[in-house]
Amino acid sequence: MTSKSELIALGVALDKAGGAALDVEPAGGLLSPWKSVLDELGVKPLSEDERYATAQREKQTKGAPLPEVEAVFKKLCGPEHEALAAEATARYRELATARPKKMFSHAMAAAKQHRYDDYAPGAYVLRCPSCGAPRLKAVLHCDFCGADIK
Ligand SMILES: [Zn+2]
Repeated sequence: MTSKSELIALGVALDKAGGAALDVEPAGGLLSPWKSVLDELGVKPLSEDERYATAQREKQTKGAPLPEVEAVFKKLCGPEHEALAAEATARYRELATARPKKMFSHAMAAAKQHRYDDYAPGAYVLRCPSCGAPRLKAVLHCDFCGADIK
């Protein structure tokens, strides 16, 4: 099993990679911070034509093409944490396809309802409110500190 500090490091790596991917503009482009993430992990970038076509097909408003990001998340997580990679990918899809106005009203609604289960700014995976270890949406007890997640 992965230790807590390893898992926290994985959460940070997912957030960093996701951030670099989301910074890519126009949608489907390739900027050097994202390119170095791909290089570091040995993920082959899509071809020029493919990347713009894919981003369009996924209705992305910004960010690196979704399949590239998914490949990076999967590589970071490995087979042991595939579910975490899937949730990070879903979160990336949400952010990369969001219209700015929609994102704003979503944040307002969450604040009004006092929902604390939202993602921290720039985060791609949820975290235990008590110890900060990344967690899956469906998990209601932290494996590490035993905290209940409401
Ligand atoms: Zn915890």
